[in-house]
Amino acid sequence: MTTLSLYSPGTPVWLDDSELGWVFAEVSSCTKVSADTFTLVLKDANSKETTVTGSGTSLPHLRNPPLLESADDLAVLSHLNEPSILYAVQSRYAQRKIYTYSGIVLLAVNPFSPVPFYTPEIVKSYIGHNKGELEPHLFAIAEDAYAAMLLDGTGQTIIVSGESGAGKTESAKLVMRFIAAPKAPAVNSDTNSFVDGASQVEQQIQATNPILEAFGNAKTTRNDNSSRFGKYIQVKIMQLPRAWCLTAFYRSYYSIPIDKSSEQEFGHIFLERSRLTYQTKTERNYHIFYQLCAGLPSKDLQNLGLDADYSHFHYLNQGGPSTTELSDRDKFYATQDALGIIGIDAERQTSIFQILAALLHLGNINITQTRTDAIIDDEDPSMAHAMEFLGVNPAEFKKWTIKKQITTRAEKIVTTLTAPQAVQVRDSISRFVYACLFEWLVTAINESLTGKYGDAAARAETYIGVLDIYGFEHFDKNSFEQFCINYANERLQHEFNTYVFKLAQDDYVKEKINWTFIDFDDNQPAIDVMEGKLGVLALLDEESRLPTGSDASFLQKLNAQLDKPANKAVYKMPKFANAAFTIAHYALDVTYQVEGFLEKNRDTVPEEHLTLLTSSSNAFLREVLDTALHRVGTEPADPPSPGDAVSKIPDPGRTSLAGTTGRGTAVKKPTLGSIFKSSLGTLMDMLRMTNVHYIRCLKPNQHKTAWEFNPLQVLAQLRAAGVLETIRISTAGYPSRWTFQDFARRYHMLIHWREGPQLIKREQWKRICVLVLQKAGIDKSKHQFGETKIFLRTGVLATLEGLRSSKL
Ligand code: ADP
Ligand code: MG
Repeated sequence: MTTLSLYSPGTPVWLDDSELGWVFAEVSSCTKVSADTFTLVLKDANSKETTVTGSGTSLPHLRNPPLLESADDLAVLSHLNEPSILYAVQSRYAQRKIYTYSGIVLLAVNPFSPVPFYTPEIVKSYIGHNKGELEPHLFAIAEDAYAAMLLDGTGQTIIVSGESGAGKTESAKLVMRFIAAPKAPAVNSDTNSFVDGASQVEQQIQATNPILEAFGNAKTTRNDNSSRFGKYIQVKIMQLPRAWCLTAFYRSYYSIPIDKSSEQEFGHIFLERSRLTYQTKTERNYHIFYQLCAGLPSKDLQNLGLDADYSHFHYLNQGGPSTTELSDRDKFYATQDALGIIGIDAERQTSIFQILAALLHLGNINITQTRTDAIIDDEDPSMAHAMEFLGVNPAEFKKWTIKKQITTRAEKIVTTLTAPQAVQVRDSISRFVYACLFEWLVTAINESLTGKYGDAAARAETYIGVLDIYGFEHFDKNSFEQFCINYANERLQHEFNTYVFKLAQDDYVKEKINWTFIDFDDNQPAIDVMEGKLGVLALLDEESRLPTGSDASFLQKLNAQLDKPANKAVYKMPKFANAAFTIAHYALDVTYQVEGFLEKNRDTVPEEHLTLLTSSSNAFLREVLDTALHRVGTEPADPPSPGDAVSKIPDPGRTSLAGTTGRGTAVKKPTLGSIFKSSLGTLMDMLRMTNVHYIRCLKPNQHKTAWEFNPLQVLAQLRAAGVLETIRISTAGYPSRWTFQDFARRYHMLIHWREGPQLIKREQWKRICVLVLQKAGIDKSKHQFGETKIFLRTGVLATLEGLRSSKL
């Protein structure tokens, strides 16, 4: 079509608008100025005229016919441009439709209000239906994953992504609920222990939510209930004899080996530790502390030396107020119930609460300073409480909090610390114990989930995993935590790009089908800058191992290594910020303040404190530490190489919190950064072995207001997520691809085995495929034959499946 006919008078178009993104307009006239330049006169809804001159893509975007404008799947839009996509999502949201397909991705816009979309009836209605048959929904994605698993026997992962507060955790919970829902009524429920078990396992998996949220979630500026850890939940599916279960399939829960040292149901990555000892004014510590103060009966509080007014505790009064005491109290009861369901009895719960109380008391230990040396009063009441509950001798604790021992090859030197240094030591102990408690809880949860069906579940090969991982973060001040979170998101984005774009296109090339390449932003350069051999994490580790290392010299190293023309697009020295570096992430540029990077990466407790804790008189604490320390793997020491200055420097005599084995082996103590990187690597390996499904959560406004849609904010998220490219590929491309053989095997029943006088041989797979498509009346434009595979456009498979089931 020529430009003149595309923009004939009356054509609806989109006009740029600084506040709304775009507004409606209509073409009044279009005139040719030069060979490819045109001047358009546009009239907006208020009949205001605007003149635009341009060529090609700088001319206004075309608007879709109203019929298509709020279609279920953005892939059906005939004009695929940003304004049309944004408008489709927005107008659906205005009709209270929060879900929209975008090719293979489900977009989910947070309603910030209870919605009636998840009732048991609705769960039931999505079971056994193809995606596209019903309204877009999380359940359709879950059902799709389930069906794909049954069909080709491969593992499935549902990745839920999005900004903080966009609705990832809620969506993941709903997906889990759908997967856990019994598929069909049991035949003999009274004689069927597996079916009884189903409800019990379902109950147990639901119980994990309040526990993980109490201990792993906190109020942040973005989300009142923000998950401060990432998790991967795996549901293993076992086949049972038909007599037991109508569907012949049963869903159970089993472990994933997310870190190599152990198998677990919940893989979790990197609980944010710094929050335990510091929160900004508008945020809070982990919910459990407020729950404890609000929910424990006053006698129990007294026994723990606590009181209902949590503002008496340093670890709780730096942050903002509790949401409401009532809700903290109710949540506490829910947490207690949930702990009971996974088998943590009242006695153990008391032991957990004692440790939590000990941490609050630790934070209140008064550390002052003489001229140069830190001091703690021998009679400090907080120290007495804390040590009583931790089962540690107060005198020993005090000694190693205000003093430090350095071991050199020749001797041991004891020096005194300043008050701020002693506070660091005290806080590092609190963070360490809390992180161990979290690890222990995850282990307890996994044991309760896998215990009953351990052996049977281990044999089950197929599974559905749900990944709920913290979204991209960008604050006024960004530190090591944001760096790690954004690094994880960058890797996930890369997987997404690879999955949707690269794999699709590589396959087209390999199979020699007609295909136009689509450009996409490859974010590998940003990943290299973060995790490469001389990237941020590597340089940080190098600096962290130097006894004299500092944030400032870390930054110098960064700039020396990374501020090079080759990295210009991704690594920047900010013009206006000191002591900071900027990374251009796929979503946006983020400036990180280096202050605290080193300390957070080391996150070490002194060896002497570790010994005190692991030989505590509190048996429960010993168990917690033992479980946690054996769960987190350690890297073996690299053999020292002659040129490696780092490995020759004597160890500063401290032990990494997370990496200690407690077995006294000679290991290079892993830093938090390196642990994070390796668990992320394991996760990526897992994802690559599965078929991936995507749910992109969108946050419609920053105030958590119900049904309010800020188009510019949503647009930024759609851009960051590469939504436009995804749709282009799903519509221009062929999302379904099968080998001739697999396709023929599944759909041969649609054709007659006799074709004219000749009998078709089973081996003539391609021929069978051709006949199947002919018989099903699939249009030529909807498929292509490659060398070994058949490629199908969206929707074709649904048609074929429909025909197939009517034949069965
Ligand atoms: P994220 O995990 O992405 O940070 P959450 O899943 O915790 O975000 O969601 C933040 C808040 O948004 C929730 O506490 C809830 O109030 C609201 N929310 C999210 N998803 C839904 C939904 N499907 N229906 C109703 N409210 C929701
Ligand atoms: Mg969350």
